[in-house]
Amino acid sequence: MTDHLGDSVFARIARKELPAKIVYQDEEITAFHDIEPLAPVHILIVPNRVIPTLNDATLEDQQLLGKMMLVARQLACQHSISDTGYRVTMNVNSDGGQSVFHIHLHLMGGQKLGRMA
Ligand code: AMP
Repeated sequence: MTDHLGDSVFARIARKELPAKIVYQDEEITAFHDIEPLAPVHILIVPNRVIPTLNDATLEDQQLLGKMMLVARQLACQHSISDTGYRVTMNVNSDGGQSVFHIHLHLMGGQKLGRMA
C-alpha cells in the first residue's frame, strides 16, 4: 500500500481518503488510532506529507519532528496516561520493524508496557 514517491496509506488518511479514527489534525500533522492496537491507548502521530523514514528527514524537518513529540504529549494528557506513563517510539527500516514507510510516532500506554526488544 506504500510507495516512496510521496504517497502512502497515512498520507491518504491525512487527506481523509481512507477512514481512520482521527484524534488530532492540523496543517502539518495528523494523529489517529492504530488499526491493530498493541496497548489500550495506541495512537500514531504522522506528518501530513510523506517522509519515508527518519533517515530521509532533513534540518528543515526539525520543527515538524519536535512538534510531533509535543502532539504525542498532548494526546497522552488527553487520554489520561500522562501520570501513569507511556511510550513514544519511531521504528526505522527493517531491523527497526518499520512496515509503513511514512514516518510516524507510536504513542502507547494504558497498561504496564513490557521491555523493548
Ligand atoms: P510500523 O511497523 O512502525 O511501521 O507501524 C505501522 C503501524 O501502522 C502498525 O502498528 C499498523 O497497525 C498501523 N497501521 C497500518 N495501516 C493502518 C491504517 N490504515 N490505520 C491505522 N493504523 C494502521
